[in-house]
Amino acid sequence: MPHILIAEDDPRITVFLEKGFNSRGFTTVIASDGLQALALAQANPFDLLILDLGLPKKDGLEVLEDLREQGQTLPIIILTARDDMHDKIAGLDGGADDYVTKPFRFEELLARVRVQLRHSTTAKVEETHILKAGGVTLNLRTRKATVNSCNVELPAREFTMAEIFFRQPGQVFSREQLLDRVWGYDYNPGSNIVDVYVGYLRKKLGSDLIETVRGMGYCLRP
Ligand code: CA
Repeated sequence: MPHILIAEDDPRITVFLEKGFNSRGFTTVIASDGLQALALAQANPFDLLILDLGLPKKDGLEVLEDLREQGQTLPIIILTARDDMHDKIAGLDGGADDYVTKPFRFEELLARVRVQLRHSTTAKVEETHILKAGGVTLNLRTRKATVNSCNVELPAREFTMAEIFFRQPGQVFSREQLLDRVWGYDYNPGSNIVDVYVGYLRKKLGSDLIETVRGMGYCLRP
């Protein structure tokens, strides 16, 4: 089970990340400032560090440099503010393995985490790359879908939503959960976008594939 250290001082984001990672079977530890992040990373074997650059007490870039100077090799993904190219370059120069720009979708970060864990020799993530239900196939490596062996075009968010349903057939997901996982924390809670996207998936993958559970949300017909 991959063990992840999250260094982030914004409680909205730490809650969002913890929920996301824990629901995927990862264990997480939160550090809310730079000194704590450094101390935790030095004292415990983590598989990966998610490092916000704007941290109190000790800046994320300094944490990164200290860890690399001490010979720590764990994969590090930095979180940066939108379009701050200087931070991204400094982070990669400082020894980060990848970066994600805020605001981000959980699925985007997760994909990058998986790439790092696959590269890393200290962790092996077992996962299936093909998910199937009712004549529909999702290939998680190529992000391509087929219906009865014919290719179907699914843009990124439609694919992400389909993947959530296919990973847990029969599990009911509320609109809020789907918003959280497909659109991240950066959405308008009043919007009906989830219903619109379920409509797209039904049209493309089959009208009876995704069930409406009244008052609860949606699920993939088991
Ligand atoms: Ca911050």
